[in-house]
Amino acid sequence: MAQLRHKAVEIAQSRSIPKIEIPEGKVTDYYGANIFSDDVMKALLSPDAYRKVTSAIKSGENIEGNVADEVASAMKSWAVSKGATHYTHWFQPLTGGTAEKHDAFFDISFDGQAIEKFKGSALVQQEPDASSFPSGGIRETFEARGYSAWDPTSPAFIMFNDAGTGTLCIPSVYISYTGELLDAKTPLLNSCTVLDKAATSVAIIFDRHVERVTATLGVEQEYFLVDKSLYNARPDLLMSGRSVFGHAPAKGQQLEDHYFGSIPPRVLNFMVDFELEALKLGIPVRTRHNEVAPAQFEVAPTFEEINLACDHNILLMDLMKKVAKKHNFEVLFHEKPFAGINGSGKHNNWSMSTDTGVNLLSPSTKPKESLRFVTFLVNVIKAVHDNADLLRATIASAGNEYRLGANEAPPAIMSIFLGTQMTKALEDLENKEIVEIEKGENAYIKLGLNRIPSILLDNTDRNRTSPFAFTGNKFEFRAVGSSANSATPMMVLNTIVARQLTKFREEYDAERELDSTKKEGIVVKILKRYITECKNILFEGNGYSKEWEIEAEKRGLSNIKEAPEALKAFIQPKFIELFEEMKVLTKREILARYEIELHNYTKKIQIESRVMADLSQNHVVSTAVKYQTRLVQTAKALKDMELHTEAEPIIEIVKQISGHVAKISQLAHDMTEARKKANNCETIEETAKIYSTEVKDFFEIIRKEVDQLELIIDDEDWPLVKYRELLYIR
Ligand code: ADP
Ligand code: MG
Repeated sequence: MAQLRHKAVEIAQSRSIPKIEIPEGKVTDYYGANIFSDDVMKALLSPDAYRKVTSAIKSGENIEGNVADEVASAMKSWAVSKGATHYTHWFQPLTGGTAEKHDAFFDISFDGQAIEKFKGSALVQQEPDASSFPSGGIRETFEARGYSAWDPTSPAFIMFNDAGTGTLCIPSVYISYTGELLDAKTPLLNSCTVLDKAATSVAIIFDRHVERVTATLGVEQEYFLVDKSLYNARPDLLMSGRSVFGHAPAKGQQLEDHYFGSIPPRVLNFMVDFELEALKLGIPVRTRHNEVAPAQFEVAPTFEEINLACDHNILLMDLMKKVAKKHNFEVLFHEKPFAGINGSGKHNNWSMSTDTGVNLLSPSTKPKESLRFVTFLVNVIKAVHDNADLLRATIASAGNEYRLGANEAPPAIMSIFLGTQMTKALEDLENKEIVEIEKGENAYIKLGLNRIPSILLDNTDRNRTSPFAFTGNKFEFRAVGSSANSATPMMVLNTIVARQLTKFREEYDAERELDSTKKEGIVVKILKRYITECKNILFEGNGYSKEWEIEAEKRGLSNIKEAPEALKAFIQPKFIELFEEMKVLTKREILARYEIELHNYTKKIQIESRVMADLSQNHVVSTAVKYQTRLVQTAKALKDMELHTEAEPIIEIVKQISGHVAKISQLAHDMTEARKKANNCETIEETAKIYSTEVKDFFEIIRKEVDQLELIIDDEDWPLVKYRELLYIR
């Protein structure tokens, strides 16, 4: 076994850097080359069909059959000319990733001729044999099948394989035959519709020209890179994406010298390669850098409309995994692949933007715009405050559980960071008398709001420990796990903000019934009350500290560390009501999702537990016993030579090893018993709970024993690739 480790290290150390082909010309020449973009559509469709498709995209209405036929035909010719041979509906089942089933364009006609076939009906709808995708019981009890349907708001794209042929991927929603939503995308699209309506109703208070509001999203993606040979020599990474054992390396991240440091050449080469492919797919990747932990990196695109940004993020993750193979890297998206080293998140930068080109969370120097900005800002804060547990539930997963509320990670407490200036501005808004409001424009200057933009522009007032931070002109939801599909947390954020804005508009209208003259005065009056009601969620201090946990408890804020417990928010009656009222998800769909999440959680912890038991027995204990036998022989030889004092320390090590081995065997046995208990529960809710409390409790204590053995046993013999090798070889 140790052989395998040494061999893997040797291979990893002698990697050469593969040459990548850079296309000729500027980025703008190949940007979006592999997508069926608006420009391509315009060029290939008749003016009438083009107009109908684009208006359907805007309004969300269905596309007529004959138009679909024309689009399908154009899409096929375009794709075939680019080298595509197959097509697939590309959708996001509730497993977290994406799914595809490739069908060839090629077909045989009735008279035996080979033809290229792709009809409008195949574009608009497909029936994947989906019995293995999770449905949380929906499909089992009702209809056995689901279907996928084209989402024209996200452009089709071609993914090329290693052989050089491509597959036309058609972004799609995924629905059961009885109409239940079985994917992550459809509820997100629903939430965009309700947010549009609600935010527009508030935006027109300030500017009657606004007709549409869209949510915008920019996703910063963190990840680790590990050489493929090292990865393959670690069964735990291979099976669970996470190292269940491994002693901290002599050099961890204490020096913080990795962050923003120069990117290692082999890594940079990989980045250039996947960014190139991303750009061809119209994913606007812009930023790349090292992260805090060794071997950790980040990629970030420019923000886009939220549905597209979510699609692009999972597509990018997929692309990174594929391109990494060529570079002999493995990408780890797990939230906590290495104990004692920073985990990975996905920072969701979110805002709202009008069709008149205004970012509604961008402060302004003009009094009227300034009030609009504060209105949207305060409504978001209120929404997060009132629905904090629900937002927390959207980021609950097996992987993120190691990150949230653990030592070096954002807390499981939902709080909002605003920065000193904004906090001060809101305090003033809450407490100061604003008689000046009626005196016209300058009144707002007294609030200090008009000074905000210039302050924020050169403001490095950042708080990396806050799960939800205002960063100048957007909110950054930082607690989302690196492996998550953003669609779900974003769907919830959109929905809670939509409901809050709807309420605000209702309250505003009710007040105006009574007093129709003072528009601004009414807005300010409502905002003042909101701030009072929700300011306990504002926190500027260190979110990682023990003091904050104590303080948060005093404030009555939730701090739910276990994922199954956090997930329960989904099925709280008030949140089910919220989803139903906003027409984003039905009760049945929510219950199904809840169940699927519990299954996902359980499976992951179960796999980790099995890997742990296997590795500890068959790799660690067996190695320890072999090493021990050698020590015993040495001690015996020394004693035979009457060298008793010299034999003493060796016997001491033999005893230590015996101690650890006995503990590991016992603990592994007990953990298996706990697993049996969990698996025998009546409901998945109980099973998940036992996994999260009883089974998982063994992880840290078994690990401690194994990591101690790693320090004792001869480096030559140790079977598992060590942390220093995983983290520092590149
Ligand atoms: P920082 O975290 O330092 O603010 P950036 O300004 O690069 O970094 O922004 C981080 C991410 O936020 C990027 O993906 C960026 O495109 C995105 N972003 C910027 N403005 C908005 C916005 N109005 N809505 C959504 N995302 C935005
Ligand atoms: Mg950031």
